[in-house]
Amino acid sequence: MIGRALATTGILALGLATTACGTSGAAAQEVRTGGPAHAAVAPAAQGTAQTSGQTQTSGQTSASGGTMRQRPLAGKIVVVDPGHNGANYRHPDVINRQVNVITQKKACDTTGTETASGYTEPAFNWDVSQRLAKILEAKGAKVTLTREGNNGVGPCITKRAAIGNAAKADAVLSVHADGSAPSNKGFHVILPKKINGPVDPVVGKSKRLGIDVRDAVRKGTGLPYSTYIGADALSFRSDIGGLNLSTVPKVLFEAGNMKNPGDAAKFQSAAFRQKLAESLANGIQNYLK
Ligand SMILES: [Zn+2]
Repeated sequence: MIGRALATTGILALGLATTACGTSGAAAQEVRTGGPAHAAVAPAAQGTAQTSGQTQTSGQTSASGGTMRQRPLAGKIVVVDPGHNGANYRHPDVINRQVNVITQKKACDTTGTETASGYTEPAFNWDVSQRLAKILEAKGAKVTLTREGNNGVGPCITKRAAIGNAAKADAVLSVHADGSAPSNKGFHVILPKKINGPVDPVVGKSKRLGIDVRDAVRKGTGLPYSTYIGADALSFRSDIGGLNLSTVPKVLFEAGNMKNPGDAAKFQSAAFRQKLAESLANGIQNYLK
């Protein structure tokens, strides 16, 4: 999906990958692969496994027995993966590098999409992910984010998967928003399929995680199921690198369509993003309990 502002600034001439990585199969074919990219991930994308603030401290038990209810995720490891990165559009040599995701080769990352008013998907993903990490930490989980901010590039989808694997995460959630035809709306969750690859052993757990996240988002936000992808807001795919390469339970959440005025208005509300983050946390908690 080609961002309007990006097009007007001539970025397309650089051969950027401009789709949201969670776009439908047809839309994904619009990805600009550009020339043979060669650069490794930029320094900003290295060493991206950084815990977000304080991690779990204590409180697994207490004399009153109440702490487990207050910190229901104590002892759990959750990786939150904010899709794309704010400066990806300036580093086509990095993000267009082709990587092996078992079922195909594809770009290391893409720019993500944006609303008509220019609110970018990387910014949205980053904001929701930070809110989510804070809520999960308050519940006692140890949380790792796959990138440090929203001004860098990458990491590659392969690295994002590796971060979750290395953390031995109990659950990984990638946070995205889609870019589709303006009349399309609603959220969906992308789940892995068996591909005769690394993700196969956790396909079942990932499905449970995805259903719990879906149910919590529906209940907590009132967002409608996607009108254009999947069935009952679930879409099983074998072309998503971050899922194919995961050896821990993982799903990719697509909050809705940034090109749809109704969805976009919600995404641009901080109160909505907080409600969404709380709902995502509830879904993860329901899965982990
Ligand atoms: Zn995306």
